[in-house]
Amino acid sequence: RSPDLLEDESAKKKSRVEGRRPPPLDIRSYKFHRKLGEGSGGKVMLASFAPKKQLVAIKIVQKKPNKCNYPWISMEAWLSKIARECPFLCHSHATFQSKAQAFFVLEYAGGGTLYRMIFRQKHLQTKSIQFYAAEMVVALQFLHSNGIIHRDLKPDNILVDNDGHIKICDFGIAAAGMFAGWKIRGLAGTPGYRAPEMLSLEAYDAGADWWSLGVIMYEMATGRKPFVPSLDPAREFLDMKLTKVDYPSHMSQEMLDLLPKLLEMDNNNRLGVNGNIREHQFFAGINWSELEKRTTQTPF
Ligand code: ATP
Repeated sequence: RSPDLLEDESAKKKSRVEGRRPPPLDIRSYKFHRKLGEGSGGKVMLASFAPKKQLVAIKIVQKKPNKCNYPWISMEAWLSKIARECPFLCHSHATFQSKAQAFFVLEYAGGGTLYRMIFRQKHLQTKSIQFYAAEMVVALQFLHSNGIIHRDLKPDNILVDNDGHIKICDFGIAAAGMFAGWKIRGLAGTPGYRAPEMLSLEAYDAGADWWSLGVIMYEMATGRKPFVPSLDPAREFLDMKLTKVDYPSHMSQEMLDLLPKLLEMDNNNRLGVNGNIREHQFFAGINWSELEKRTTQTPF
C-alpha cells in the first residue's frame, strides 16, 4: 500500500480523537542547527533528535495552497520509507506535517554530495568511479524491481555518508507502478541528465535512469557533461543527436566500452535495459553480494 502522508496524519488525528495513545513525537522533538542545502522542493536542515543526540537531515517542503504538490509530497514520503530496504538510498526516520509544511526526517549523509566531490577533485579515479557506480547500480536495480523510476538522478542527488558510501536522495518526482512493459510520458528531471526519449516526449521506462547513470559516470571521469544542457528539451535533444561524445584518452578501456552502452540513444539497446550491467568488464572484481551488504571497504 502506498501510505499517503496526508492520510497518515489524519489517521493519527482520528486516533487522538478516539482517545487512543497519540504518536509519541512531533517535529518539536528535533533541534535545528544549520542549512545543509536547498532545492526547488524545499530546504534541508541539519538537526538532532534531542533524546538521542542523533544527527538527522530534515527536508522541509512548503505545501502549496492549491495542493498541486501534494502528490509529490506523498510520493517522497512513501519512497523515503521504502528506501530503508536498500543501503544506498537515503531513507526517512519519520515524516510530519503542519498545515503549511511537510517535514521529512532523513538519515544524515555527512560526506556531502557527489557534485561537490567532482567540483573539488575535477575528476575522480577509475577505482572510485567503479565503487560509486556499482552502489548506484544496486540502488537502481532495487528501485526498478519495485516498479520505481527515480527520474532525477544527478550528482546533487547522490549523497555520500560518513563512511564513504552513497545515498541517493530526492524521490519527489519518482514514478511508481512502473513494472516491466509499462511506460510513462512527461518531461521530468534536470537539464543535462535527461534521456533522449524523455526529451523527444516519447513514452519511456527505467532506461531513463540508466541514461542518467551514464551521464553521471562520464561527469565523474571528466568533470564535465557529455551533452550541452538546455532548458528547451527540443534543443537539448537536437544537440544530443548532433554531438559526437568526446571520450578522453585517459579513460580506461573498460569505461570506454561501458559509457557508449549507457549513453545509447535507443532505449531498447541501452545497457541496464538490455543486458546485465553487473557482468560488464568495468565492474570486474566487484563482489556484488558483499557490496549489497554495504560492508565493502571504500577505495580511499
Ligand atoms: P531539487 O531542486 O534537486 O529537486 P530538492 O528541493 O528536492 O532539490 P534535495 O535534492 O532533496 O532537495 O536536497 C537539496 C540538497 O540538500 C542536496 O543537494 C544536499 O546538498 C542536501 N541534502 C539533502 N538531503 C540530505 C541528507 N540526507 N543529508 C545531508 N544533506 C542532504
